[in-house]
Amino acid sequence: MGNAGELGIRTMAYLLAGVLFIRSLGGLSRQETATRGNLFGILGMALAVAATLWDWWTAPGHGPGAGMALLLGAVVVGGAVGAVLARRVAMTGMPELVAVLHSFVGLAAVLVGISSYMHPHGGKAGPPADMLPLVEIWIGVAVGAITFTGSVVAWAKLKGTLSGKPLLLPGRHLLNLAVVAAIVGLAVPFSSARELSAGMPWLLAMTALSGLLGVHLVMAIGGADMPVVVSLLNSYSGWAAAAAGFMLENDLLIVTGALVGSSGAILSIIMCRAMNRSILNVVFGGFGTGDAKPAAAGTSGPQGEVTEIKAAELGERLLSSKSVVVVPGYGMAVAQAQSAVKELARALGEVGVTVRFAIHPVAGRLPGHMNVLLAEAGVPYDTVLEMEHINPDFPRTDVVLVIGANDIVNPGALDDPQSPIYGMPVLEVWKSSMTVVLKRGMAAGYAGVENPLFVLSGTRMLFGDAKKSVDALVSAVRAGVEARKAA
Ligand code: NDP
Repeated sequence: MGNAGELGIRTMAYLLAGVLFIRSLGGLSRQETATRGNLFGILGMALAVAATLWDWWTAPGHGPGAGMALLLGAVVVGGAVGAVLARRVAMTGMPELVAVLHSFVGLAAVLVGISSYMHPHGGKAGPPADMLPLVEIWIGVAVGAITFTGSVVAWAKLKGTLSGKPLLLPGRHLLNLAVVAAIVGLAVPFSSARELSAGMPWLLAMTALSGLLGVHLVMAIGGADMPVVVSLLNSYSGWAAAAAGFMLENDLLIVTGALVGSSGAILSIIMCRAMNRSILNVVFGGFGTGDAKPAAAGTSGPQGEVTEIKAAELGERLLSSKSVVVVPGYGMAVAQAQSAVKELARALGEVGVTVRFAIHPVAGRLPGHMNVLLAEAGVPYDTVLEMEHINPDFPRTDVVLVIGANDIVNPGALDDPQSPIYGMPVLEVWKSSMTVVLKRGMAAGYAGVENPLFVLSGTRMLFGDAKKSVDALVSAVRAGVEARKAA
């Protein structure tokens, strides 16, 4: 720790960084202010890293030397890897990247915990004499290990390396309870150990148990509930960082961790409400999903006849409509069709057709995924409506274009108690005069559930890559407009 002046600089910098993080969260809550919010976050983080380096530099025994070179080297290498990964990642791969980043925070908390045990603050090796640091280490390592392995499983599920099907082991809640009891129980021999060598095996055993718990909790989550798990792991990573802050006696890490932890928890609750799920079901891994039929790997499609439509015919139909609603989904992101979709909305708008966009809270693969894509394409915010605002309007809508969406427009979620997504509110597109689904084939969506919407009498399928189909629609609409002008 440096002298009073240096401490003052550090405290001011930390305070300012904390304020910037709060402003960042505030900004990110609305699309119009999101860019500014991001900027505040970047500034806050830059300040936090600089202040922490300064703190280390001015601490007794530190300063220029091999330690500083190592620290700066780690910052440069870590920053470069992060920048390259973030630049390279496609929008569809963002959830996986987020899950990997959460796993890093969890792993960091585990490593900080173990090293704090080996070298407690003050520089003396061996178990700390006080109970409080031991409790901090125990909690930090446990939360960190759960976050680490849970995030790795979430990453594998999002990437498709692991199946989205929930793993529902018999007696899984008792199993979880037993592991939690063991994690708490092992704290007794750990805290009474007088030697590092006596306490370390308990700490490592608890780390392994917490890691197993993280794996089991996330393995038990079904495909459709993954969005909540990702946001829950975001919250856990915040608490893991806060715990690391206590161990390192770093106030800013505590504050930042608490901000991430609590905002992640609030987001999880909001998403659970939107999906009509209980937060406890998700926290305790698949609690109450026992009655639901496991998701079929469905590539065969639902039973019944599908009716196809071609772009030229649909173009005419759109031109004779008053109100059109576009439902974007994951397939729009895969096809990168957002700009073409905006073009279509503009072409229709020019001839007096009202075009609006309907956003489901879990559309795509990360919260706000569709909003980001539409904003990137320049779609006006006031034409983008949330599910609860647009659902009552479907009966007055002439055509709904479902672009690469599937689970979020599945009527089975409302009327099939056997469906794994039963109870999740969906966009009730089938209430419109005509629903057209743009997708490549009859494959199921992320939850692996068949969709009876595709065989309803009011539904038409426009098969093909979403970008190509929408481009063809834009051409059909423009050709139709020209033909009407000429007539
Ligand atoms: P879905 O995953 O249900 O469906 C996407 C559909 O897009 C597929 O059926 C696929 O059919 C089609 N598709 C894929 N590529 C293309 C393409 N190039 N052109 C046209 N269509 C294409 O997506 P939704 O957005 O409807 O639902 C999101 C799902 O993801 C929900 O189950 C949600 O719970 C889950 N999830 C959401 C997260 C979030 O935070 N938003 C995070 C994790 C999971 P085909 O192959 O036949 O073309």
